[in-house]
Amino acid sequence: MSGPGERLDHFMARANAAYYAGCDPFADFITAPEISQVFGELLGAWVAVVWDQLGRPDPFMLAEAGPGRGTLMADALRLLRRVAPACHEAMRVHLIETSPRLRGVQARALRDAAAVPVCWHDGLDGVPDGPMVLLANEFLDALPIRQFVRRGQGWEERFVHDGAFMQAASDVPAGHPARLRPVPEGDVLETCQPALDFIHALGMRLLRWPGAAVLIDYGYDAPAWGDSLQALRNGRPADPLLDAGSADLTAHVDFRAIADHVPGGVDVWGSMTQGAFLSALGLAARTEQLARAAPAQADEIRAAAMRLAAPDRMGQLFRVMGLSSGLAGDLPGFAGRRAGDGTVRGETP
Ligand code: SAH
Repeated sequence: MSGPGERLDHFMARANAAYYAGCDPFADFITAPEISQVFGELLGAWVAVVWDQLGRPDPFMLAEAGPGRGTLMADALRLLRRVAPACHEAMRVHLIETSPRLRGVQARALRDAAAVPVCWHDGLDGVPDGPMVLLANEFLDALPIRQFVRRGQGWEERFVHDGAFMQAASDVPAGHPARLRPVPEGDVLETCQPALDFIHALGMRLLRWPGAAVLIDYGYDAPAWGDSLQALRNGRPADPLLDAGSADLTAHVDFRAIADHVPGGVDVWGSMTQGAFLSALGLAARTEQLARAAPAQADEIRAAAMRLAAPDRMGQLFRVMGLSSGLAGDLPGFAGRRAGDGTVRGETP
């Protein structure tokens, strides 16, 4: 211990490991794939198009980081088996999941949907060599953050002691993309080293083998700051520092820092809002198709789609970033918004 308590990232890692090992996260919060099957289906269709643009590699790895209940992957695989059997045949499914309990839930969810073998790994480095398409929804927000408070020209770090914050002189890690942000006196800068490590490893892999990734999460894509640590218990905000392991701790994802950390040579797409991304992937058409097929549930189906895409629901706060290498053409869904080539990154949809 190097301060007056436990470092916030150590506390958050410990709390979330206990939480995901012991609780049913989905009693406390609901994620996009749990709201509507259309979410996983649209991403399944996206995988098929990307696979085609990669030159139909056989085999290729279809990976997901932080699959939760396995709902997104199950919906994606059901769609792929029906509409893109050659892609379904070529894929090998690899799930990155640290919670043994959730691995069990995922195995059950995928038993009938996949009809292909599924492998689990603790990290990206376990996924076998070769072309890969990776999906991640609400994975990065669960990774542990540190918080630094601006004091004059320096920083203090927040530590957790007896359910409260204590501060001690410290420094934002050298080389962190957010280090030079003009944070006002007394305000908070968050860093998430595991997210940067993940994106760097993903980028290095994309330099070795062609592939693509889509990362969906709530967060911001501007040189911003502020305290975004939050805990949800029974769907309600709770004190994040109390009762470690009884609530899900998350922080907003800093897409700007993440984009800045992608190794050169890998294409970065977006980020853009979830609403605009899902619309580009055909949210309206698929929703109407399902509503026509099940008229008794049509209102519910349309309401779920609204919840995913409407700006005052999940459509604006949730953002989508893509990474790719070796792709013929633009990464689908991003309307040609490649970061760093003169097109806009940031708060545009
Ligand atoms: N993607 C799912 C679940 C999001 S919850 C959905 O949209 O419903 C976060 C998921 O990430 C859980 O499955 C959790 O166990 C997993 N997770 C959290 N930290 C992780 C880590 N460091 N490595 C791998 N998986 C992790």
